[in-house]
Amino acid sequence: MSTVISSLIEAAHRGNWLPLIEESKKAPGKHWAESARCVNQDINVFVPLADGPREDPDSVKAKLGISLNRPRNLCASCPLAVAARCLVESLKDDDEYGIRGSLLASERSELRRAWQDQDTEKAVEGALRGCTAALTKPARDAVIARFATDPSLDAAAVARGLGVTHEYLLKLARRYRKSQAGRGTPTVHVVPDAA
Ligand code: SF4
Repeated sequence: MSTVISSLIEAAHRGNWLPLIEESKKAPGKHWAESARCVNQDINVFVPLADGPREDPDSVKAKLGISLNRPRNLCASCPLAVAARCLVESLKDDDEYGIRGSLLASERSELRRAWQDQDTEKAVEGALRGCTAALTKPARDAVIARFATDPSLDAAAVARGLGVTHEYLLKLARRYRKSQAGRGTPTVHVVPDAA
């Protein structure tokens, strides 16, 4: 039986992020959304007005009923890797609105909290060793900073941990070093002793 997005979501709810993240990596790069089923659809359909991060998902579904069928059906027929990437990107961005990967914003609240509450240090160390981890933005930035400043780290492992290509990792490291270069050592103004 083929995997569906709901089984990846269920595993994530149980604390196993690996299947969702691994699937999302199959839709790599900047243009991952080009084969999404929602391309060229009315964006308002995917942002139901009655829904939001603090709504009760059951009452939203009861209130909106059939009007949720269209976006839900589109998500259900979206390529699995694209749907997984869509959901992972929404978690990375802590996106509080709109349907992503077939989940209403209110249905994503628990996953968003779990993603943000991860042990940053542990996730960073894991990603540096090449383990797939659900990285928050600060954790991801920390991995890039460590890689950019520690030549002993294995680029292939770090790229795997971050879920990016080797080339893109090198680009991120260059960008980080450039951002740091201008900072330099703060100037110390020495006040001469009074004669
Ligand atoms: S899963 Fe995401 S990318 Fe796919 S149709 Fe739904 S909202 Fe669009």
